[in-house]
Amino acid sequence: MSRILPPGSTIGVLGSGQLGRMFAIAARRMGYRVHTLSPDEDTPTGQVADVEVRAAYDDLDAVRAFASRVDAVTFEFENVPSQSIEACAALVPVHPRAEVLHTAQHRVREKTFLSKNGFPCADFRHVRSFGELEAAAREIGLPAVLKTAGFGYDGKGQRMVRSMEELPAAWQGIGGAEAVLERFVDFECELSVVAARDQQGRFAHFPLCLNTHSRHILDVTLAPAPVEPRVAQQAVEIARGILETLDVVGVLCVEMFLERGGRLLVNELAPRPHNSGHYTFDACVTSQFEQQLRAVCGLPLGSTEQMRPAAMANLLGDLWAEGEPQWHRAAEFPEVKIHLYGKSEARPGRKMGHLTALCAGVEEARRRVLEAREALRPRRSG
Ligand code: AMP
Repeated sequence: MSRILPPGSTIGVLGSGQLGRMFAIAARRMGYRVHTLSPDEDTPTGQVADVEVRAAYDDLDAVRAFASRVDAVTFEFENVPSQSIEACAALVPVHPRAEVLHTAQHRVREKTFLSKNGFPCADFRHVRSFGELEAAAREIGLPAVLKTAGFGYDGKGQRMVRSMEELPAAWQGIGGAEAVLERFVDFECELSVVAARDQQGRFAHFPLCLNTHSRHILDVTLAPAPVEPRVAQQAVEIARGILETLDVVGVLCVEMFLERGGRLLVNELAPRPHNSGHYTFDACVTSQFEQQLRAVCGLPLGSTEQMRPAAMANLLGDLWAEGEPQWHRAAEFPEVKIHLYGKSEARPGRKMGHLTALCAGVEEARRRVLEAREALRPRRSG
């Protein structure tokens, strides 16, 4: 049975980055209160939330005190220890449930879940020692990608291995940690489906996204993805199966490869709103953040209809290397929306904000969003 949390209720968010910030914006717009917990202060989420609690994620006393002051808990960051989620769940409803996070935050559990349940993914082996790595490389063949089992995102803790000679350096490169070795996928493109399930088990998905990465970090998303309808249908059916099998209440993103030859392979699951779904904020009737709120509060899901084709481009800290970006130049593109996350320190590779262009078609949106991002680059005068 779902209990509806009405406006005025307080939602606790574990994590305090841009995903929590956009969730808090959506929640406050609908009259909800938001508390956030993370080890940092003056955070992207904290700047928008009603209350910002500074504590370590594994400080169970602080986590319990946080949970006791809210009506429900969700998270915006995968690497919250699942014991902390369980500590919250003993006090208030937590969505998605701890088990979903537990599966998605560890690559071995994630890939084992996928392959056991018949969801397509690249061949992989669990690796706990250099000996196992050598055996895995022989079994699945090279090239392959070595990825740490836990706490990896945006390509952190990853090494490409092209030959047996490269194995020692790759093993050292990931610090000899528990890992998976995964077949290198020769892909045509990368796609993602952001989807949601409510407390009644009803499923809704946003239009398929086409994603390009730079240095393993998402760079540009086009939506709807310009692929054959057959591919889009299959991708959505895979996502539906995953959300249903995991019994997700909330938002989950399924990242996939479209292999040359047309086969879809699941790469990763993110049990929360996702960078590739940021376009929904401006382009869809309901954003992925509002959808998360609706699921957490026991409300029906909103329409995922996309009102206009969109392209999203991330703004990384690198853009600040030569000085403050020229915001007024991007503002000269009337079809481009500027989102900044309130982060004071611009480090290379750090996600500082994004731009979304809304146009008559995705190709035009892509061109415009890239032009707007280029226009932001600081120019030396003279
Ligand atoms: P991940 O952290 O697993 O999402 O990987 C980040 C990016 O690295 C992906 O979006 C791909 O661009 C690339 N990548 C990861 N795994 C593979 C693979 N098995 N084959 C080819 N490219 C990969």
